[in-house]
Amino acid sequence: MIETAAEKLSLAGIELAALEARLLLGHVGGVTKEHLFAWPETEFSTEQIEMFESLVLRRCRREPISHLQGIREFWSYSFHVDRNVLDPRPDSETIVTAALEYFPARDFSASILDIGVGSGCLLLSVLQELPKSMGLGLDVSCKALEVAQLNAKNLDLEDRVKFRKSDWLTGVSGEFDLVLCNPPYIPTGQIEYLEPEVREFEPRMALDGGPDGLSCYRKILPSVSDILGSEGVAIFEVGAGQKEDVRRIAELSGLQIIDEFKDLSGHTRCLILEPTNF
Ligand code: GLN
Repeated sequence: MIETAAEKLSLAGIELAALEARLLLGHVGGVTKEHLFAWPETEFSTEQIEMFESLVLRRCRREPISHLQGIREFWSYSFHVDRNVLDPRPDSETIVTAALEYFPARDFSASILDIGVGSGCLLLSVLQELPKSMGLGLDVSCKALEVAQLNAKNLDLEDRVKFRKSDWLTGVSGEFDLVLCNPPYIPTGQIEYLEPEVREFEPRMALDGGPDGLSCYRKILPSVSDILGSEGVAIFEVGAGQKEDVRRIAELSGLQIIDEFKDLSGHTRCLILEPTNF
């Protein structure tokens, strides 16, 4: 059964076809892929086999495996994901690493704002690591906020986090110690060249950064210094090669880059910003 499914997946252009076949069968059978390696003779009910076959078909149409399983791992936690939120990317873990480098004391009661919270993966991961901190997650999509709320519940973080519908920082006030943001930054014209999993199944509004990919930085950055506390920092994800353009927008917005962190491929993945001192 796994071999036949793997062949179909492979023909559909899925690289790790055998692994994914095992993941999907494990998902419907409630067992791990390791279990299937060790006990390939494990039996499944007719319903489970039908369910497996339908998931394989959907995967052949390039629906992301995270959507089929309903979860994606990020920073060692499991996040519920669906087509209403951007799939958490390993590269975005760079933001969590940067946040913890800036706030290394686990007992610091930070107030944290996530602009465009999506699944909640950034905000909730940092809240897990800073157990006295409180968070506010903003998103313009109510469906994304529902996903973030569910993830907060699953991680037992509901007491320390609130979510609010908001168009970037419009109408937001307060003084935050830490601002997190992974805005859409893909130039519109490049979206058609993305993998079908991303292009067809992830929310366009979480990817599309306008003609040059920088539209959202222009909208958000001018308001960031208004909501940063005196020792506060903002951490923004940027796409490969966008650092200098974002630096210009930040400088026009009264912010300066004080540090940067690279992702596993060596690209500058996030910028640490603070208000410019005059
Ligand atoms: N890093 C994502 C990708 O390349 C894009 C995320 C974003 O636009 N913020 O698919």
